[in-house]
Amino acid sequence: MSAILSPGGFEPVAEGCRRAALPSPWPPHSVAVFLIESGGNWLVDVGAATVESVESLGLYLDETLGPGGMPDAVILTHSHLDHAGGLEALDPETVIAHQDTAGLYEANERTPAGRPFVTVVGTSGSLPHMPGWDWVLGEGHAPGHLLLWQPGSGTLLAGDQFLLGLKTPLRIADPTEDSFGAYLETLDRVAALQPAVMLTSHTEAIREPAAWLDRERRRLSRQLDRARAAVQSGARTAEEVTERTYGSIPGPGARQLLLREKLAALRHLAARGEIRRHLSDGQETFGD
Ligand SMILES: [Zn+2]
Repeated sequence: MSAILSPGGFEPVAEGCRRAALPSPWPPHSVAVFLIESGGNWLVDVGAATVESVESLGLYLDETLGPGGMPDAVILTHSHLDHAGGLEALDPETVIAHQDTAGLYEANERTPAGRPFVTVVGTSGSLPHMPGWDWVLGEGHAPGHLLLWQPGSGTLLAGDQFLLGLKTPLRIADPTEDSFGAYLETLDRVAALQPAVMLTSHTEAIREPAAWLDRERRRLSRQLDRARAAVQSGARTAEEVTERTYGSIPGPGARQLLLREKLAALRHLAARGEIRRHLSDGQETFGD
């Protein structure tokens, strides 16, 4: 059975925390939002801006908070439109986000209602006005991506950072960013917390976080080994490394994802000084 969430209303998933899944126009076509009760009702993410998503969220909030019920505040895990697009329709008083997420949302760093975001800065901290919950930075997929952490129950809301049975796409838009390294750092940061369960934004929960995080780390170090070996044997671009590693890849979607991961891995090896990177005329090449 697929681990991808099917759309449906709020159900309890952790102490004081419910999850609903909204329809989304982007793969994997559904996205979770969480309602946390802690000195008020906090909605984590708001779904897409589509009519279908906005109506579903309205209905699910009515069912849980009573007709016309609205959360007291919203927390955005990151700025991607399947998670943050619906903000416009909801228009809450308070929106909490990492400073880097707020910076990406609108050029003027304001919510659709024209109010400033309440921002958090750095790599971890407690959430303002939300007793029992902390936040941890989880980068590699999106700048300023927040993971929400309830130490009392060992529950981590992992957003898009960790997904059961799906690879998290690493960011490659900025050639100066080491998104692979940032993702590895997040694995360490989260492993140190020793979570009991990790809830994700698109899939069923990860029930054995320690084993999962360990497998993910081994997968990534194998990736680095293969990328390093391919460069040593003469591959110079992410395309060549991907071809040497996988041969012919079925389907443009799978190929895109693999190319992206290879490019992120190569940039990480370059950032660590293990291989050299050259950028000229928009062409990014690597050498040993
Ligand atoms: Zn997402």
